[in-house]
Amino acid sequence: MKNDTSDILAKVKAKNPAEPEFHQAVQEVLESLALVLERHPEYRAAKILERMIEPERVIMFRVPWRDDQGNLHVNRGFRIQMNSAIGPFKGGLRFHPSVNLGILKFLAFEQVFKNALTTLPMGGAKGGSDFDPKGKSDMEVMRFCQAFMSELFRHIGPNTDIPAGDIGVGAREIGYLFGMYKRLRNEFTGVMTGKGLTWGGSVIRPEATGYGAVYFADEMLKTRNENLKGKTCLVSGSGNVAQYTIDKLIELGSRAVTLSDSAGYIYDEAGITSEKLAFVMDLKNVRRGRIAEYADKFKSAVYTPADPALDHNPLWDHKAQCAFPSATQNEINAQDASNLLKNGVYVVSEGANMPTTIEGVNQFLAAKILYGPGKAANAGGVATSGLEMAQNSMRISWTREEVDTRLYNIMKTIHEVCYRTAEKYGTPGNYVNGANIAGFLKVANAMMDQGLV
Ligand code: NDP
Repeated sequence: MKNDTSDILAKVKAKNPAEPEFHQAVQEVLESLALVLERHPEYRAAKILERMIEPERVIMFRVPWRDDQGNLHVNRGFRIQMNSAIGPFKGGLRFHPSVNLGILKFLAFEQVFKNALTTLPMGGAKGGSDFDPKGKSDMEVMRFCQAFMSELFRHIGPNTDIPAGDIGVGAREIGYLFGMYKRLRNEFTGVMTGKGLTWGGSVIRPEATGYGAVYFADEMLKTRNENLKGKTCLVSGSGNVAQYTIDKLIELGSRAVTLSDSAGYIYDEAGITSEKLAFVMDLKNVRRGRIAEYADKFKSAVYTPADPALDHNPLWDHKAQCAFPSATQNEINAQDASNLLKNGVYVVSEGANMPTTIEGVNQFLAAKILYGPGKAANAGGVATSGLEMAQNSMRISWTREEVDTRLYNIMKTIHEVCYRTAEKYGTPGNYVNGANIAGFLKVANAMMDQGLV
């Protein structure tokens, strides 16, 4: 069966050249699935894998817009509708200059498995643009979002495809995108998640991915009769996921000591407190400044600028027990993974999508640490989006406690399913196999039921 999956991977690479992130995401899943395919030849006969690797639909479009000086710009927009076997397409939009077809295909592919794990009826998708919101005025961001939605609106809908946020798409962008959709369609529906609280949003949605990654880490620790209290934690990024990861870590009595952005990182030996986090939220969400300012404000912190010539990220080279990568893909390479292990890290819960390279993942698995892959550990965001959709359909709003309890229970269930599945397939403690196999089985069985479509 190993030959079979190697053959599929070779074909994916040949058919989708210049998409290394997509190859990486497929490879990681295929390595886990060899175990399932041996027991279930019916999936091979129905070519389920080949069908899951091929998006149901890819939409690529021109986004022309005008800046404040009146100059014209042309960006590229995408929506990858990967798989709708268990529900309407669902997944975030990313606005970042690095965005390309391969990156969005990897994200959409991961999303299919992640959404299946949430226990909610959601298919997988992802989209975005190579537009860079950094340094743009609110009016420029609004004009871009309106131009982007003026094409995307014809491909989405509350029962078809429900986008959300991701890197570079937060509350401001969701507002502009939703406003334009509403105008074009002349309908007020739950077509997007991450909406404002007064117009259909859910409490806890902004917090959900970060909180969920921490709940997942705590569940992994429980298997060793431990918890997060008193643990030192390394957190990367300083956006939505990083902020609420730290918020929950503070509540649980852990000591988070790092934050980063693409320009560099801060190390705060004294620990990031609620007051310091409030400063970061204002800095990043309101003033849209750089993390370097943290070290100007708080003297216990040291700022280190990013150095592209380095073969590792120094953020991952500090003594700690836990790591929460919450910035972007492949931010932990083999050297970083080995530094983390050397410095005592034995819990890694991925808030970001695919933040660890395959070589790094293999080191974590070989060391038998508690390693929660993104498609399980960061599923809290999309799960709470699913809860937002449910509230929109019923035209009601749950309380903070209700949503947080549901989020907590979903993360507990995802952990349990991954843990049990890994055990059932003879690889106890391997959450990568657990997540890939459990997600695959749910989607594959739905596809088998629905025939050749
Ligand atoms: P934000 O845009 O709010 O924050 C992203 C953070 O990561 C910023 O600090 C940013 O720094 C940094 N970053 C982004 N790209 C790079 C890069 N290429 N190199 C170095 N730093 C970088 O995004 P989110 O917090 O929403 O997303 C973070 C991660 O979590 C992503 O991998 C996303 O896919 C994943 N995720 C998010 C979910 C959500 O609900 N938001 C759900 C599940 C996963 P800078 O500002 O300098 O670019």
